[in-house]
Amino acid sequence: MAPSSNVDVLIIGAGPAGVMAGNALASAGVNVRIVDKRPAKVMAGQADGIQPRTIEVFQSYGLARRLIERGNQMHSLAFYNPRKDGKGVERTSRVPDVTAPSARYRFEVTLHQGEIEAIFLDSMREHGLEVERPIVPESIEISEDVEELASKDSYPVKVVLRHLADATLETAPNGVHTNDIDPAIESSSSSLETVHAKYVLGADGAHSFVRGSLGIELEGEHTDHVWGVVDCVPVTDFPDIRNRTAIHSDFGSCMIIPREGDKVRLYVQIAEELQVDEHGRKDRSAVTPEKVMEMAKRSMQPFNLEFPDKPEWWTCYVIGQRVAKNFSVKERVFIAGDACHTHSPKAGQGMNASMNDSHNLAWKLAHVLRGWASPELLKTYELERRKYARDLIDFDKKLADLFSGKAVTTENATGVSHKEFQGLLQSMGGFTSGIGIQYAPSLITDPTAQSLAPGLVIGQRFLPQVIIRVADTRPYEIQDLLVSDTKWKVVFFVGDPKEEKQQAVINAVGEHLLCSKSFARRFTPKGAAQDAVFTLLTVSSTSKDDADYTDIHPGLRTHWSKAFTDDLAIDGRAGGTAYTTYGINPSSGAVVCCRPDGYVSFVCSLQDVTSGRLEEYFGCFMVGASA
Ligand code: FAD
Repeated sequence: MAPSSNVDVLIIGAGPAGVMAGNALASAGVNVRIVDKRPAKVMAGQADGIQPRTIEVFQSYGLARRLIERGNQMHSLAFYNPRKDGKGVERTSRVPDVTAPSARYRFEVTLHQGEIEAIFLDSMREHGLEVERPIVPESIEISEDVEELASKDSYPVKVVLRHLADATLETAPNGVHTNDIDPAIESSSSSLETVHAKYVLGADGAHSFVRGSLGIELEGEHTDHVWGVVDCVPVTDFPDIRNRTAIHSDFGSCMIIPREGDKVRLYVQIAEELQVDEHGRKDRSAVTPEKVMEMAKRSMQPFNLEFPDKPEWWTCYVIGQRVAKNFSVKERVFIAGDACHTHSPKAGQGMNASMNDSHNLAWKLAHVLRGWASPELLKTYELERRKYARDLIDFDKKLADLFSGKAVTTENATGVSHKEFQGLLQSMGGFTSGIGIQYAPSLITDPTAQSLAPGLVIGQRFLPQVIIRVADTRPYEIQDLLVSDTKWKVVFFVGDPKEEKQQAVINAVGEHLLCSKSFARRFTPKGAAQDAVFTLLTVSSTSKDDADYTDIHPGLRTHWSKAFTDDLAIDGRAGGTAYTTYGINPSSGAVVCCRPDGYVSFVCSLQDVTSGRLEEYFGCFMVGASA
């Protein structure tokens, strides 16, 4: 008989979406397993761009330093278009690569996918989680039993896993580290195991087995866009080889992505008609790395481009612009990443979108598994991430059309103008950087009192600002206090407690928080640490020279390290602009709730606290301690 076991969360697929979820859940102490069909991690190639918002997310897990140290930073974006004299291309403009003024990191990082995954694999290992490989699911069944599905203690998802014999990762003859299982592995000796899971996450890529076996359909088209990609170290006099560069030439379009070390990635859209095989798939065998490099060379004329060495990696792939109809079945099985959405690589979104799906889901699963929140919370995953995926496809379509179109010239007056292309990229800076992503109103996102803090947009990530810790005047980036530890952060902008009137308001809030009906007491499990679910922070408007952490009522001050003020740091380099940036009036203050994934979800006044508004808000989805 096949061995059988129970697990709280089973993750299928250890690509960017899978390892982000694995790390978030393992570091939260959730009972989780992660399996992958590959015998080893990705060795080279595939996705490589990490956007500003995703760097912030890495930082919230304590993982940004390694990413930034090992990766390449892209600060500028250059545009090249045909010269009027017909002799190749010339630079039309050079602009900042990131056009999101509020980004904490004003650049993108490029590093190959395997290195990025390794950051998570190492972190997961520290939390006792290893990827089990090579393993594939054979079947997935979700119980139909209503009681079983409703119970928080049941394991209603049955997955049969096939453990494949160990094998080394084969490299396909064309140099691509293939994502498909080597047939030799499939037919080799293997064994079966049955896993009963509370929840399953299918993070198994564009050809997702999980999606397919649950009958989740994809909406959208399998486009004709074929991309040739090479990772290489060219010798060139092209001046922008170390900047992200979009080239529109008479010989086609090319995108340059500078990478770690001297490496460069070249993307070339294959314009020619490719043969279609009997399954309707484009025959990509006609595309070779030499051909991709030749096309890049031609589009970069009159500059020289030579390739003294063989490319480190190359691929040729057809892009589908598709979104899954559902991201979950019965809120027991979820899909994330390429399993839910695929699009072109031009906007550098693939890995970012995938990891941010899991970042969105992981804390919600942890909350429900711990009995902190009602399973209704899980519905917000699809609501939030599917809307984002649809917006991404719409953007990708516009960009693809402009990128594939011929550049405007005297002969081709209807072609794509430089202004049009640059305009789209810059106007969508908030979206492409991930900074402007906004989640729709839901039971966790309540924009009713937005006017109390108009600079902190409800549904968007918490804006970075430097604040000063009162006890020791140490400056802190507020985002570093809003870490991804599955806890809610409730930030009390208390104004100036040195003013008598405001002190009275603060004291009333503190007294309210000390009573058993307050949200922090009601929704923290009995016997758990006082700050197990909620971290309470205060930000006053008192000058750092006068402020004392003891000014804050004990009900609001759970520890000296949680009291901050909005003032210039001692070195004068940052700080003192939080109230203004967030649009909060220091004479009245405000309370801002930040989700465990760093998104602003609710705002109310200090007076609202004493009238029970926070209990009302959290009561919509959190489960009371006595329940
Ligand atoms: P993936 O990275 O695809 O990870 C899925 C994981 O699931 C893999 O580890 C896979 O082995 C595993 N898996 C799949 N099926 C099963 C199964 N049945 N059982 C167990 N495990 C399974 N993006 C760019 O931005 N630029 C590029 O140039 C680029 N090139 C790409 C080239 C290729 C060949 C591929 C496949 C993708 C490329 N992408 C590129 C897309 C990018 O890699 C993805 O957007 C990103 O990796 C998505 O992450 P993910 O975790 O959702 O999926």
